[in-house]
Amino acid sequence: MLHNITTRLNARLGSNTRKIPSEYLMDKERVKKLVRELIIEIGEDPTREGLKDTPDRIGRMYQEIFNGYESESELSVQFSEDSDTVVARDIQFYSMCEHHMLPFFGKIHIAYSPNGMVFGISKLVRLVEKFSKRLQIQERLTKNIADELFAQGVKGVIVVADAEHLCMKMRGVKNDATLTTSASRGVYENKEEKESIMAMIRKTSSNSSF
Ligand SMILES: [Zn+2]
Repeated sequence: MLHNITTRLNARLGSNTRKIPSEYLMDKERVKKLVRELIIEIGEDPTREGLKDTPDRIGRMYQEIFNGYESESELSVQFSEDSDTVVARDIQFYSMCEHHMLPFFGKIHIAYSPNGMVFGISKLVRLVEKFSKRLQIQERLTKNIADELFAQGVKGVIVVADAEHLCMKMRGVKNDATLTTSASRGVYENKEEKESIMAMIRKTSSNSSF
């Protein structure tokens, strides 16, 4: 069992760029069993009408909302075109906080300085999905996206994320705050460059919370 879990983890975490063999994909039948157990522990009857299909629904939902682990690198197709700075704003994302397994969601803004190539917006959206459809924390999500984009050879990248966390809103201190995180790489690590790009993102974003 432990070996099986380790093999799965290695296959998932070690492979950001290749397709994972199907035997490592989520075992929906096992998820169903585990959710049924959880329902019992919560103090409910898993056979009652409203709950009897819940394990199956959650199994299918988890395959969808955690499919970022199986995502292939989506940045291989680029357009040959140059530009000073490309800014993609307000990319909506949904993720699951790894501390509480509750949703956190919001908008991601990506700015990069191309090196002769630009990426289609759909590629950037899929890049965001690749890293958001996992158990995550917002800080790492921001860094994952910046690192993968920077690894493509662009001159600089800034990724900014604004998000609400249900684990903060519905439990604990019940704080309504929005968290903002950012990661910069390459030429944008320079303070002045970073500030001018951040101002560009701020000025044009529909979200004024940062
Ligand atoms: Zn949390």
